[in-house]
Amino acid sequence: MTEDVLEYPERISLAQLPTPLLPLDRLGAALRSEGLRLPRIWVKRDDLSHCAASGNKIRKLEFSLAAARAGGCDTLITCGGLQSNHCRATAVLGAQLGLQVHLLLRGDPGIDVPRGNLLLDQLCGARISCYEPHAYQQSLPQLLQYWHDHYQQQGRRPFVIPTGASDGIGVWGYLNCARELRADFRSAGIAPAYIFHATGSGGTQAGLSAGTRLYQLGAQVWGMAVCDNESYFLNKVRADLRDWQRRYPQQTASLDLEQLELQVNADYIGAGYAIASEAIFNTIQQLAELEGLILDPVYTAKAFHGMLCELRAGRFNDTGDVVFIHTGGLFGLLAQQDGLSFNRLQMTSV
Ligand SMILES: *Cc1c(COP(=O)(O)O)cnc(C)c1O
Repeated sequence: MTEDVLEYPERISLAQLPTPLLPLDRLGAALRSEGLRLPRIWVKRDDLSHCAASGNKIRKLEFSLAAARAGGCDTLITCGGLQSNHCRATAVLGAQLGLQVHLLLRGDPGIDVPRGNLLLDQLCGARISCYEPHAYQQSLPQLLQYWHDHYQQQGRRPFVIPTGASDGIGVWGYLNCARELRADFRSAGIAPAYIFHATGSGGTQAGLSAGTRLYQLGAQVWGMAVCDNESYFLNKVRADLRDWQRRYPQQTASLDLEQLELQVNADYIGAGYAIASEAIFNTIQQLAELEGLILDPVYTAKAFHGMLCELRAGRFNDTGDVVFIHTGGLFGLLAQQDGLSFNRLQMTSV
């Protein structure tokens, strides 16, 4: 089947695609040695989608930035937490495309030198405005509008990208990933029943859930929440898909949104967004040592830890294969290095 079930809008090719699908066999062997009978765990390496702009956001931004360019935009405005991977990817790609970038960030940067994502934001020359978290939460739409109008009055052509690039445009990014997975599953000869990923602003889940249906992957997508609750995500994912159908009525009519089932697990958020327990840091260390797979404390390690807990509990063992989407986040780990503990290094005599 070479014919595509979807007609895609314009996209700027920015990510290194397709990303590899790899089995985590040493992890599987380690779990089996504990006496557990688990499905084979595969990882879709979306952390390899780019170097500085790595992770899931670049897939969505390929479409958001194409829409921005089509509208003659010269200035990107977007928003997120201080260590937002999405803001960092936008800062890098904006610089790559010669666009000015203005980031509205939630939180106080403090007096330390910037680390992780924030360091790269600054390195790429993004303009940054930091807001007190409560004020940010209360007035984000007004803040975005304010800066949009500000640039317009200066004669510039601003384009606002919402949190996480999760809207009807960004949805295409993970539809495109579902299309890749169809080819991955065929060439690996697997038919995974479950796909797991971290969910934060909903756009990844919207694209994957719709794509799994449209490309007939025969799998159930589980969004592992890193913030908010189940009903928030059920609403947000549907809202993104409704926006997608509203913007592209011809291309999207084949998806019956009423019939689409969504699965969200919000049991592994822990103490809150971006706050990771010792168990999460242990998962990061285990996967790094066993597989050379680097997870992050905000998104992927929480989702991976949750998936393993569910598999251990026997909830998803009615299948031979499960797939974890590695959505990136490495630079967020570098901003939380204090959560990791190592033996003190000493000089070695010759
Ligand atoms: C943003 C992000 C997610 C969540 O994706 P959404 O589309 O916002 O739900 C997951 N993992 C990482 C590393 C992210 O940066």
